[in-house]
Amino acid sequence: MTQIDSGLDGYQIWFLTGSQGLYGEETLRQVAEQSQAVHAQLAAQVPVELVWKPVLTDPDSIRRALIEASADDRVIGVTTWMHTFSPAKMWIGGLGALTKPLLHLHTQANVELPWGEIDFDFMNLNQAAHGDREFGYALARMGVAHATTIGHVSDPRVVAEVSAWARAAAAWAAVRSLKLARFGDNMRYVAVTEGDKTEAEIALGVQVNTWAVNELADAVADVDDTDVDALVASYEEEYEVVAELRRGGERHQSLRDGAAIELGLRSFLEAGGFGAFTTNFEDLGALKQLPGLAVQRLMADGYGFGAEGDWKTAVLVRAMNVAGAGLPGGASLMEDYTYELTPVREKILGAHMLEVSPTLTAARPTLEIHPLGIGGKDDPVRLVFTADPGEAVVVAMSDVRDGFRLTANVVDVVEPDAPLPHLPVGRAVWEPRPSFPVAAEAWLAAGAAHHTVMTNAVGLDVVERFATMAGTEFVVIDEHTTIREFRQELKVQQVWHRLDRGF
Ligand code: MN
Repeated sequence: MTQIDSGLDGYQIWFLTGSQGLYGEETLRQVAEQSQAVHAQLAAQVPVELVWKPVLTDPDSIRRALIEASADDRVIGVTTWMHTFSPAKMWIGGLGALTKPLLHLHTQANVELPWGEIDFDFMNLNQAAHGDREFGYALARMGVAHATTIGHVSDPRVVAEVSAWARAAAAWAAVRSLKLARFGDNMRYVAVTEGDKTEAEIALGVQVNTWAVNELADAVADVDDTDVDALVASYEEEYEVVAELRRGGERHQSLRDGAAIELGLRSFLEAGGFGAFTTNFEDLGALKQLPGLAVQRLMADGYGFGAEGDWKTAVLVRAMNVAGAGLPGGASLMEDYTYELTPVREKILGAHMLEVSPTLTAARPTLEIHPLGIGGKDDPVRLVFTADPGEAVVVAMSDVRDGFRLTANVVDVVEPDAPLPHLPVGRAVWEPRPSFPVAAEAWLAAGAAHHTVMTNAVGLDVVERFATMAGTEFVVIDEHTTIREFRQELKVQQVWHRLDRGF
């Protein structure tokens, strides 16, 4: 079985260095050597392959390099560093042609200024301090969306910033090429899960299309019994499977039905090249159960998922799965469900009917079966666990008619106040920053959804860079948030994005 591509292998970021011909061959040779040394130090520490390119010294080669980066599917972004002075009008044609994310790396070869030895040649060779300001003017003047990292590559902060940007760029590349399958439509009457799918393709590059759920049911019916045997055996290795579901247990057939749903879903998604999907419990056709276990395991493998037809959250789950590739933790559909409202120790209990990814815990989940009082199907099998304590981010995408708004809240996942022996679903308990009342009021003011992606693999630094690449409205609720400023920020975002969009 081929697996969805959820690693960062195969992606490239091009490391571009700017200069100009005026310096002459000898100086440009030194520029290239220093650039390669800086590149090597950085490339050894960032999670995406960083490819060094020859120093750019004239408008034609600059334009050519940025067109090639834009045309190459492997390339997810470029970094630019004006090692020396690279007159920025030389970059206008290239920047106008660039369609990939850009990171302006404002650095220099040396850390310390050699106060006692510095001569004019040294000063003239190491002049990013004004070369990059010239370049910054062009970026600002042209309104090129970009990120900036400032400092020497020996500084762990610089490496962390470049790495966060690289992860965001990988997520953005995955979204740009994402095909999303919806099984059934939106849950009846629900507003926030609706959205403009044509706008999604224009603004995000995502193809969102719908299939009849019975096409999925057909794929499930085609599943081979011996494949079900093998998958059920692997469940018993990977999870604490309750006795009634194990081979010989009285409800073992339900586990086999769940396994068949997983195999059918995988074959459908792989055949269509889909990286994300949605289901709707109101429209399960001939499926015997609401897909629970299957969805949990597919999210853990890197697929995006949204429940009740929520393709926008499915996009975010896919994006954050790619962004967090190789890191501890993961990304999952999450839903604000119910509260602990005791003042000062308020908490949010998040879960879903079934579909929370087990990557949110390092512990071994239990595999259980319980009734689901909704949907009118057989009892579904599901993984039960509690998300591990630690920092996480929840992100929601709302369609605000003119475009999309991303709302992010930095939260602290905590242990439940007491065990939850009667709650048979994957769940997380968290305290939102800066406080429950402020976070909840800001969230409501933003019109942010009850469905989110929760990631405990990457932080706000990645989410923020991803939002910049997506070019959507983006508001943050974290330890610095006040309601007064947040409401202002919402207005600024609305006005800016309307103007930016043009008429
Ligand atoms: Mn829901």
